[in-house]
Amino acid sequence: MRYPQTFIDDLKRQADIVRVVGDYVQLKKKGANWMACCPFHKEKTPSFSVSPAKEIFYCFGCHKGGSVFNFVMEMERVAFPEAIKLVAEKSGVPLPKLIDDTRFEARRNEAEAVIELNRWALEWWEKQLESSTEGRIARDYLEGREITDETRKTFRLGYAPDSWDALSIYLRQKGASQDQIERSGLVVKKEEANSYDRFRGRLIFPVLDIQGKPIAFGGRTLRNEDAKYINSPETAAYVKGRNLFGLNLTRDEIRRAGFAILVEGFLDLIVPYQFGIRNVVASLGTALTPDQVKLISRFVRKVVVNYDADAAGLQAAKKAIAMLLAEDLEVKILVLPDGADPDEFIRKEGAAAYQKQRGLAQPHIQFVIDQAVRDRKLSNPADKEAAIDEVLPYIHAVHSRIQKREYFDIAMDKLGIDRDNFNTSAWRKELWQQVRGSEKGTVKRTTNPARRAKPTPAEQRLLNLLLNDEQLRRGVLRELQADDYEDLSTAPIFRALLELDRDGGEIKFDTVNQKIEGEEPSASLLPMLFMSESLHASNEHYAADECIQTFRLMKLQHLIDELRTEAGAAEREGDSEKASRLSAEQIELTKRRSALLPKGEPIQPGNW
Ligand SMILES: [Zn+2]
Repeated sequence: MRYPQTFIDDLKRQADIVRVVGDYVQLKKKGANWMACCPFHKEKTPSFSVSPAKEIFYCFGCHKGGSVFNFVMEMERVAFPEAIKLVAEKSGVPLPKLIDDTRFEARRNEAEAVIELNRWALEWWEKQLESSTEGRIARDYLEGREITDETRKTFRLGYAPDSWDALSIYLRQKGASQDQIERSGLVVKKEEANSYDRFRGRLIFPVLDIQGKPIAFGGRTLRNEDAKYINSPETAAYVKGRNLFGLNLTRDEIRRAGFAILVEGFLDLIVPYQFGIRNVVASLGTALTPDQVKLISRFVRKVVVNYDADAAGLQAAKKAIAMLLAEDLEVKILVLPDGADPDEFIRKEGAAAYQKQRGLAQPHIQFVIDQAVRDRKLSNPADKEAAIDEVLPYIHAVHSRIQKREYFDIAMDKLGIDRDNFNTSAWRKELWQQVRGSEKGTVKRTTNPARRAKPTPAEQRLLNLLLNDEQLRRGVLRELQADDYEDLSTAPIFRALLELDRDGGEIKFDTVNQKIEGEEPSASLLPMLFMSESLHASNEHYAADECIQTFRLMKLQHLIDELRTEAGAAEREGDSEKASRLSAEQIELTKRRSALLPKGEPIQPGNW
């Protein structure tokens, strides 16, 4: 049940923020705004302000801010729907009937029903594995793989007896209807009102969602059937490619370690886990999907891909690289010696040997180059071009300029396109132009909270001007290029402004806020950016081109800082060649920055 969207939109327009907030705090008019002592933090002089024109509140003391709904949610400690109701009541807007979201509700209920049946099935299968006579075959298999009872219990492994209907009968005894059983995917439907158990004579690996609920199963044959693994079909509770096996158990360790090891199969995760390597997730046999990458990126920004070393595994690894880069993750590739998978390798060589190998994992670009040159002769021009074509997309997809440049140089050197060779230097430059491009459309950008620091005061000031001065904004948006803002922590705000401008949308707190979808630090900053007007007033004549200029200066400064950090790191690692190359680049950029600086102006971007 929810309120209709049209009503919510109307209410947003009609709700008087001063009136609603005024119910909670004593507001005093001051200029265009209303001020009060902040209800969210202790203070004696008012720093809490409400702008009826902008339909926002903001506290300059504790930086809380947002729409009238945010205020009520914060004040009353209620969720959004409840805030809607309260705001409507306080604004004297009659509440409409709730929409009965039947389809949504029905689907959720169905998902819960599937999970319930999955629970029953899993508990029963666990018992079969633990103690049934027939389950011995599965117990022997696990013993052969050195999987302990503790591990078996942790992962809730089970055994599905070799029977067409044993599970179905059990589920019916528990009270499930034939219809429910069929919808659960635990059986395969035959003709009318007839079905048989899907998993028969198999070791069961439950796929648990992040809360530990069984949403699907994988079953491994114990009788050398053709299908080594079979899996649950999609159900109301399970959509393929949305989950990662093991994440419910490994998420904390992944966070702690600062990187995740991505493997393919169930045992490639279970065995390392048993041996104490617990920052692992498994992509469940299918090709890695964007949803899975998003799930990983909620916990970590670095991934070591450790797939099988056979042709299919290598191909899958390359696909995974592309997916991970598209979400701005850093990727390394681990290929274990002699084509071993993680499960075999760890049982044979132990966890320490595995960790040692893991430490030797290649940056993704190295792997991609190796794959590209593997079956080609670089002395043959056609082969060389094919190799370049294969490698460039993986460099193009890298977000950080510095890393991109570094990977590019590695690749070019490897592929024999020398900087200093007369025949190839121009070609190399051309290729660099190709990969450094503005990545329009090809690669989706996401903010990398680790890399993008706090917005600088200059950035904030510019945004404040842009958000509040329509004329200035028009001029700036016309000139602004993706390159100018893409590395800024506030890039989502710029993107939102450009989109709204393009689509003719109104630019105000609510519309921009909706576009940036909680991306930090932009989202927390937004009320302040809309509210601070003091700077604006003293800069009436700030021109659009000056704004753009300042952006480009900021961008350069950002690059210079990055280069300086990288050069320092290279120096410490004793790579003096790299350090001096980076320093040279840094000097070059500093020169360019100086050329951009207006003569005799007191702007010092160095202090930002
Ligand atoms: Zn406050």
